[in-house]
Amino acid sequence: MQKQTKAIRIQAERSQNREHSVPLYLTSSFTFDDAEQGRAIFADEMAGNIYSRYMNPNVDEFVEKMNMLENAEDGIAFSTGMAAIFASMAGLLKAGDHVVASNALFGSCIQILTKITAKWGIECTFVPGADINAWKAAIKPNTKFLFCESPSNPGLELIDLKELAALKEGRDLILAVDNCFATPILQTPLDLGADLVIHSATKYIDGQGRVLGGVICGKKVYIDEIRFFARHTGPSLSPFNAWILSKSLELLDLRMQKHSENAMALAEALEGHQALNNVKYPYLKSHPQYELAKRQMKYGGGILTLDIKGGFEKVVAFSKLLKIASISPNLGDSRTIITHPASTTHSKLPAEEKAALGITDGLVRVAVGLESIEDLKADFLQALNQIN
Ligand SMILES: *Cc1c(COP(=O)(O)O)cnc(C)c1O
Repeated sequence: MQKQTKAIRIQAERSQNREHSVPLYLTSSFTFDDAEQGRAIFADEMAGNIYSRYMNPNVDEFVEKMNMLENAEDGIAFSTGMAAIFASMAGLLKAGDHVVASNALFGSCIQILTKITAKWGIECTFVPGADINAWKAAIKPNTKFLFCESPSNPGLELIDLKELAALKEGRDLILAVDNCFATPILQTPLDLGADLVIHSATKYIDGQGRVLGGVICGKKVYIDEIRFFARHTGPSLSPFNAWILSKSLELLDLRMQKHSENAMALAEALEGHQALNNVKYPYLKSHPQYELAKRQMKYGGGILTLDIKGGFEKVVAFSKLLKIASISPNLGDSRTIITHPASTTHSKLPAEEKAALGITDGLVRVAVGLESIEDLKADFLQALNQIN
């Protein structure tokens, strides 16, 4: 069966009520027929549900679909994307280990690596992600973990994941990729040599901005260690959120095609506008890594950035003039959202780091939604024309 069929047809076992849509298993714990069965299930001698911090039919269904989409042998779900990212590090690393990470990361990841894991003696070196030689130079004998995003948030910088994975050869390294922007529809990093792929399910996997969630898929040896950490520290995904996320996966393929089609059309319509310094989108020929984007990603994705001339003042004016797009820090919603990273998601970064990542005062991230592209083009053009 094709993945699209499986994304729709994988389902928790049907109950005696013969429901069509999967029920919500809102239960903290599960029952045992007798104390002996409880003992056997706890001792792993028998399969069975125990407690929803460990497993739950809705959560397991969601993870099974994600593993299928990412071509992973194992996976585990979390309450948020950040809980997943933190658990990958807390579960696999110890004091004295070294991490190499791309400098273009989601803001909270930089906070974890500089202020939290650093506090426990895990050192991190940040490198310009696209520069494979910089990764190579940063690897030390105690390096254990490589972490990156491609495309990055919000700079839309790409990393050649195959080349990055090749650096692991002959070394004991774990490559973890935050695949939030691309989703498994556009790229499957495990097939390119990554060991773990991590998602904020809050974004495209939910797709309608309703719930928070996270997931890690990848090699069983690593997932087992992360599972030990998660079971005993408790960052579990709620069954209700898992139910939403699993249903949303039925439409992920369709949605990503349409998000990408709309984003490409909007990028083309706005590129060259006089009110802008530039438009950045992986599938635009002007993107510095256009060739890599075409090779590594099935579509261009739903995110583009606009660099508005005149800085924050003009961004504020532009945001007031938009009639359709929302102003919000989320992305991956069916509703188009604009975000000003310099003053919100990346506001904690020092000025020189923002500059290095291209996060200018005029930069606006556009998470293109599923509205009519004609309406979106008209909305962005009327706003840009008025601030020009
Ligand atoms: C939003 C986001 C996260 C964090 O996910 P939460 O679900 O908000 O915790 C991590 N990485 C990327 C790329 C994101 O966009």
